[in-house]
Order: sequence, then structure tokens, then C-alpha cells
Amino acid sequence: MQQNMGNNQMLWVEGQRVLSIPSQPLTGQLFIDGQWCDGSDGERLTRVSPAYGVEVSNFAKASIADTQQAILAARSAFDKGDWPKMSGAARASILNTIADLVMAKQQQFALQEVLESGKPISQAMDEIEWAVDLWRYAAVCARSLHGDSFNSLGEDMLALVVREPIGVVSIITPWNFPFLILSQKLPFALAAGCTAVVKPSELTSGTTVLLANVLQEAGVPAGVVNILVGEGHDVGATMTSHKDVDMVTFTGSSAVGKKLTAVAAESLKKVSLELGGKNPQIIFPDCDWEAAVDAVVFGTFFNGGECCNSGSRILVHQSIAADFEQAVRERAATVPFGDPLCKDTKVGAIISKAHLQVIENYLKVAIEEGAEITLGGNRVDHSGLYMQPTIVSKVTPKMQIAREEVFGPVLAVLTFTDLEQAIEIANDCLYGLSAGVWSANIDNCLQVARKVKAGTVWINGWMSGYPELPFGGFKQSGQGRELGRHALDEFTEQKTIQMHIGERTGWWLPR
Ligand code: NAD
Repeated sequence: MQQNMGNNQMLWVEGQRVLSIPSQPLTGQLFIDGQWCDGSDGERLTRVSPAYGVEVSNFAKASIADTQQAILAARSAFDKGDWPKMSGAARASILNTIADLVMAKQQQFALQEVLESGKPISQAMDEIEWAVDLWRYAAVCARSLHGDSFNSLGEDMLALVVREPIGVVSIITPWNFPFLILSQKLPFALAAGCTAVVKPSELTSGTTVLLANVLQEAGVPAGVVNILVGEGHDVGATMTSHKDVDMVTFTGSSAVGKKLTAVAAESLKKVSLELGGKNPQIIFPDCDWEAAVDAVVFGTFFNGGECCNSGSRILVHQSIAADFEQAVRERAATVPFGDPLCKDTKVGAIISKAHLQVIENYLKVAIEEGAEITLGGNRVDHSGLYMQPTIVSKVTPKMQIAREEVFGPVLAVLTFTDLEQAIEIANDCLYGLSAGVWSANIDNCLQVARKVKAGTVWINGWMSGYPELPFGGFKQSGQGRELGRHALDEFTEQKTIQMHIGERTGWWLPR
């Protein structure tokens, strides 16, 4: 059943759930060196569902000592084990088996993500499928990893450039797309021959723990992947500072990314970062109106706006701004928000009370700075943590709401008068993750695509993604790239091998 809330500002969904809430939380232990174990402190980490207010997971919690043990297991599996020496074909076969096994458990994985994160079930099912595709793509990469050769260095020299796995990789992930982001990292690290220690967000550890069973079943050797449920300040920090870790790959906030990079610098580890964004969509008067309105609504409210790629600010040409904004408001009010386990729900609950307060604070500052809330702006009076779809108008480029990542269902609307100004506003931001442009004029589109500082630019579209295409950010949105045909390069070192041919012509050899 769908019904309108009293204020007519959102379409609230409740009614028949496609899956029910389990009567018991998912329980689990740490996975270290192929063994399940409790944390050395005996502590547990529990998660109460933001949508349903009941405990949905209860895991052993890792201590610093457990983290050190996991790192040593990964180190030993890398230095002495078979995984780095196996053929790409053998590793690919295991990665494909993992993909098959996860796909067979799609519903279980999706349900756990819904319960822990509050995202809608239809989206969670899609995310598991997308993630599985990444495991399959990594399997392809495992078989095509190769180096280079130089037969052009003169008669007496042949050189090879080989790629070797970098070693032990710490993988630290956020709560917004738990299994999908893990799958942008772990299968590629494994495909390259690395071993790993993984820490999911303390809010959404379930699917990472479930994966450990799958890894065992698929035949991943003990110690190759170690999974720790725990917090950032101790477990994450140890994964970043430990001398036996060769690389840290992190997705999360820019603030933690900076902190972590400073710690990793002490031991000069390689760090790869996927951070926040304040992604603009630039809308010209000759855009495909319907498609642009839909993309703005999708870009803002997908995953409740808790998305690094959220199109959280639009720059609309002055001449169409009022009409376009009105069209977005009308469309936004028809997006079904509500119970994440109902099949029609498109937007579920916010991750936590603390985060809801952060979103509300951004709105308060926006009003203080002179912006106007023209849709939503309030919590939904319901048992879960829900926020109305919200549009903030009359935003100017220097306002906080135009520059900082809100990470909620909140759109900031700005205007521009010509292309140069649009690009200036788009680039006047510390972030550079993604951007979009809507126009029938290919010159407009290509000029924006060339001049905007962002890792991904969508022309007449928003947020499509493919394993074949690299993903990552300019400026403070990150460092390095995931996916694409060079995805494995991030997890390798290059080694140059120079082979002398024939008689040696030395520096000071007697002739
Ligand atoms: P967060 O930075 O708070 O936490 C991310 C992870 O880091 C968690 O596992 C956390 O436990 C861990 N952590 C916290 N402190 C740490 C420390 N001192 N050392 C090591 N690890 C530590 O981020 P979040 O709130 O979970 O996720 C939201 C953020 O993630 C947003 O800023 C969003 O834009 C970003 N994000 C970026 C991408 C991308 O691909 N660019 C994708 C998804 C999310």
C-alpha cells in the first residue's frame, strides 16, 4: 500500500514486505588465518537496524592484538603461501566460484544489507548482482595481467618489465555500499596475487562476514583473506600503521582518508583512496527536459543521498531555473520513500541518528546563510530514521551547502548564466569525484567534459558505471583509480629485469 504523508511532500510506502525481519540477529566471529575466532577482549559489536530498531547483527569484535594476528597471517600467506605463485587461471577459477556462490546467496546478502543500512531491498538485490559482476571481471583481469618487454635497447640488451603483487593489502570500507565497495577492491587484490586484511564499517559488517564462508567454500587458502569486525580508531589504525602491511586501500570520508594517509606515511606505504564528492550536474536550456529531471531526482535521492556519487548540487541555466526546479520538486515528491523491505520503496532509512543530525545541521546553516528550503527539510515522524526528500533553493557558490558533502537526500540548486561561469562554479570545490552535463549541443557537453575537474563526467546521463571503466576522484575526492583494465596495476609493483646478451662491454674491463 502506498499513501501520501500529511504534508504532501513525499510518497510514503508501507505495506507488504517481500522478506521478513529475522527473529534473531546474524551472529559471527572474526576470520583469521582460515579460522573463526572470538576477539581476544571477548567484546561484541552489535548493530541495531536504522529502519526497524531491532538488533540485526552481533559479531565478535576485533582488538589491536587480533588485528596484528590477522596481519601476520596475511604476511605469512603472502611470503610463504601458494596464492601469489598460482597461475592467473587458477586464481580466476576461484574468483568465478566465489561469484557463483555469492549469486546463489544473493537474497541473504541483500537482506543483511537492508537490515544494517536501511537501503531498499530492490536496490540491495541489484547491488549484490553488480558486485558479483566485479568478481567476474577481476577473474578476467587475473588472466590478462602482464608486463612489458623492450627489444629496442640495442643489440646487447633485452629488458622485461614484470608485475608482481604488492603484498599484504589492508582494505577498509564504508557503510553506504558495503558489499559493492568491498567488491571494487578485494577481488582485484586477489586477482593480482595479494593477500588481505579486511575491515568493513562497524555499522554494516554483515555481508563481509558472510563472504568469509564463501571464501572458505571456494577454496581460498587460509590466511589469504582475513576479516575483522571492528572500529577505525584501533583496528583501522593498526591496519594502516603496521610495518607488515604493504598497501592500504580505503573508501570513506575525506577527513579519515587524510588522517589515514598521514599514518601510512610513517612507513611510506602505498595508499589508494576513494573519498567524498560534491558532484555538480550542469543543466542547459536545450537539455532533454524529462531525462534531466529524472536524473536529478535519481542523483539526489538514490541510496538516500548517502552516496559518494550523489548529484547533490545542480547548476541550472538562469533562463530555465524556476521551471526546472519546480519540475524537480514535483518529481521528487513522487519518489516512494519508506519501509526498505517493501518492494516499491526507492529510498529507505538514514544510517544513524547521529548522521541524521549532521544532515539537519547542514540545513540549519543553509537557512542561516540565506538559502530557502522549498521541499521537505524535516524528519518523517515514523519509527525509523527517515528524512524527507529535500530541496534547498537560492543557493550561492560560497554557501556551505554548495561546497560540502551532506550525504543525505538533499539537493542544492544553483544557477549560472554562461558556460564559463558554470565551469567555474563546478570547479570551485575541494572535491572532484564526478560531474554531469545536460545539453543537446555537443560543443557545450564536450567543453564541460574537458574543463570540469572530476574523475568521471556523464554527458546526458548520470551514475552509470561499468567494471571496464576506471573510477576515482580528482582533488580531495581521492587518489588512484579502481576498476578498468588497469585495475590490477594498483595492487602490483613493477620490476625491471635487464638481460645482457653476448660478451660484456664493461665500464673498466681489460680488453
Ligand atoms: P568513514 O571515513 O567514517 O569510515 C570509513 C571506514 O574507515 C570505516 O570502516 C571506519 O571504521 C574506518 N575508519 C575510521 N577511522 C579510521 C582511522 N583512524 N583509521 C583507519 N580507518 C578508520 O566513512 P563512512 O561514514 O563510513 O562513509 C561515508 C564516506 O565515504 C563519505 O564521505 C563518502 O563520500 C565516502 N565514499 C566514497 C566512495 C568513493 O568511491 N569515492 C564510495 C562510497 C563512500
